[in-house]
Amino acid sequence: MLSEPIITDFDYDSLFKQLRELEAAHPDLVTSDSPTQRVAKGLTEDFAQVTHLVSMLSLDNSYNAADVIDFDRKVKELTGQQTVEYCVEPKFDGSSIALVYENDQLIRAATRGDGTVGEDITNNARALSSIPLSAPFSKHGIYRIELRGEVIIKKDVFERINEERKHQGLKTFQNSRNTASGSLRLKDPKEVQSRGLEAVLYHVSYAVDKQEKNLLATKLLTHYGNIELLHQCGFKTPIKELKICKDSAHVSAFLNEWETKRLTFNIETDGMVVKVNDLKMQEQCGSTSHHPRWAIAYKFAAKQAQSRLLDIEYQVGRTGAVTPVAKIEPVRLAGVTISSISLHNEDFITEKDIKLGDTVIVERAGEVIPYIVGVVADLRDGSEKKIHFPKTCPSCGSELIRPEEEAIWRCDNADCPAQAEERIIHYVSKDAMDIDGLGRSIIIDFVQRGYLKNMEYIYDLPYDEIRTLEGWGEKSVTNLKEGIESSKGRPIWRLLTALGIRHVGVTTAKDLSKHVKNVFEFEHMDAEHLTNIEGIGPKVAQSIFEFFHNKGNIHLLERLKEFRVNTENRAEDAIAKNNKLQGKTFLFTGSLQQFTRDRAKQMVEENGGTLLSGVSTKLNYLVVGEDAGSKLTKAKAIPTIEVLTEDEFLKMIG
Ligand SMILES: [Zn+2]
Repeated sequence: MLSEPIITDFDYDSLFKQLRELEAAHPDLVTSDSPTQRVAKGLTEDFAQVTHLVSMLSLDNSYNAADVIDFDRKVKELTGQQTVEYCVEPKFDGSSIALVYENDQLIRAATRGDGTVGEDITNNARALSSIPLSAPFSKHGIYRIELRGEVIIKKDVFERINEERKHQGLKTFQNSRNTASGSLRLKDPKEVQSRGLEAVLYHVSYAVDKQEKNLLATKLLTHYGNIELLHQCGFKTPIKELKICKDSAHVSAFLNEWETKRLTFNIETDGMVVKVNDLKMQEQCGSTSHHPRWAIAYKFAAKQAQSRLLDIEYQVGRTGAVTPVAKIEPVRLAGVTISSISLHNEDFITEKDIKLGDTVIVERAGEVIPYIVGVVADLRDGSEKKIHFPKTCPSCGSELIRPEEEAIWRCDNADCPAQAEERIIHYVSKDAMDIDGLGRSIIIDFVQRGYLKNMEYIYDLPYDEIRTLEGWGEKSVTNLKEGIESSKGRPIWRLLTALGIRHVGVTTAKDLSKHVKNVFEFEHMDAEHLTNIEGIGPKVAQSIFEFFHNKGNIHLLERLKEFRVNTENRAEDAIAKNNKLQGKTFLFTGSLQQFTRDRAKQMVEENGGTLLSGVSTKLNYLVVGEDAGSKLTKAKAIPTIEVLTEDEFLKMIG
């Protein structure tokens, strides 16, 4: 618990930056105990205190390319150089340590502490196999040397440790950094050994020969040279991840590369460190009382932030599942503002001990949906309220049921308006029947008015009445009619997706559609027959079987057929005429000149490709028409996306 910080790094850094800006503008306000005048405190009395040979300063932080350019400009000013070479390396997220070797022997290991004085953890450090007890520094004329590094736990090791702890009924660890720093200060070195810790050394802060003569910037000339030296002496270093960059443009490009690379890298990183490579130039830059001027930490877009849980909404899904959704104070994270987050189910709330009014830690990495990591119990003031999961459906008032062995509470009422709403929203969605002009808010309105009781009602709307509603004109009614009319001719895989059969998404629906002449054939298939279809597992087969053996569902299909919704597998619907675009993803933007949006979609699908709805790292090709806007800008920032003209796209599919 002692190692768990009260506020997140990003919050701390933001506050620290604000404070420093304020102090820069009003120097008279700077007090001697301002956090800007020294680095974080954090000593317990349990370990002997030792003074570092050279103070361990923190690094100045930057969050964007402009900060890096600014840093480069200052370095050039301080050194009087036209060009400066930088060493750029990932900043491992662990616990900082300083090691001292004398006469080739490890004589001391210390935590960072307050930067000047740390805790002596030599006994625990000796338990780590990645810290050599002796290293051949004398071969390089070095008598005493102080090294800086980070004790980390690799991601896969951390997961394994948590798996084992879960197995043993122990509390799992929240993150690897706190676990590393906590483990380093355990009383029993044997216990330390069991935590999978590794030391990575990334800096030489002090080096003298037998005559106590300083070797830094006189004999040891570059940062990169020092890392090579440590590597040769048997230490783990970031030598493989490190890059020498000739100028700030190369630095920025390398930083960008790591924004995505870090997600798959096996060590947690919270940013990159940019250092002046030449040690003489480092000396010329010097340091402030808080940070060196020759290095800067570049922080990746924050993955975690704190917010307050304001309220919980209970949403009823199309299968009747009731999902608690947390409404939180809006918080910006990894480029988006987050104000609501799914809490999954009642057990999730109980396990995480979440209360109304709690401070919650929110995490979002890359494309991942944001989730609540946990609550900060230390910040509770007693006003937090226990969460009582509802006993009845928030939409229709029916009593909720929770089938045994399931974590989900459900509304079992077939006529529940909230379920109908969700079923219809799913039915008209882009991946399903793709009905233009019938959006979420219109559906909710029509359900309330009683126009839409289920999917088939879409084809029997009271247009004369709708025409008279506020906000509806002749044109919007015509558009709606046309959108609904054109959905009647869709291929059956769309209908199979739209029906909302549990576990049946687009891919499964396509697999299914190839095996029948019309959808009613599924009525006569048993689960075993269904499992013989490629791509259909037993769980999916069972749910398809159940769906087509429910009288209400068959009645729904018959009604849809009466409304002339296509239920036949027609020759022209054959999916993927060839596999030219197999595994490739596409998105179209701008105003297309040579074909319509619908035709473009069709061409991609006929050739085995997949359409995406937005720009992300999953996208392979962005096809641009005229006046392409934000999607193009966004795509250009992701180096793996190829931008195509309409002609280039046509050439691609021949
Ligand atoms: Zn209900």
